[in-house]
Amino acid sequence: MGRILFFVVLGVGLYVAFRIWRVRQRRDAAARPERMPVEGEAIVRCGHCGLNVPRSEAVADGERWYCSEDHRRLERSPR
Ligand SMILES: [Zn+2]
Repeated sequence: MGRILFFVVLGVGLYVAFRIWRVRQRRDAAARPERMPVEGEAIVRCGHCGLNVPRSEAVADGERWYCSEDHRRLERSPR
C-alpha cells in the first residue's frame, strides 16, 4: 500500500514539475519577440554620440557608423 502511495505522489510531483516547465517555456517564447530587433536588421552604434540605430538608417563612413550625416561630419572635422 505504501508503495502505491509513493508512485502516486511521484506521478503528481512529475506532473506539477512538467506544468511549471511548460508555463516557463511559454512565457519565454512570448517575451522573446519584444526584445529582438527587427528581423535581419543589425543595430550599429553612432561613433559620435553612441546612439544605437538600425543599419538602414545609419550613415556609414569606412568601418564606422553614425546616426546622422551631421554626426559623421562632426566626427571627421578636426576640433
Ligand atoms: Zn550620433
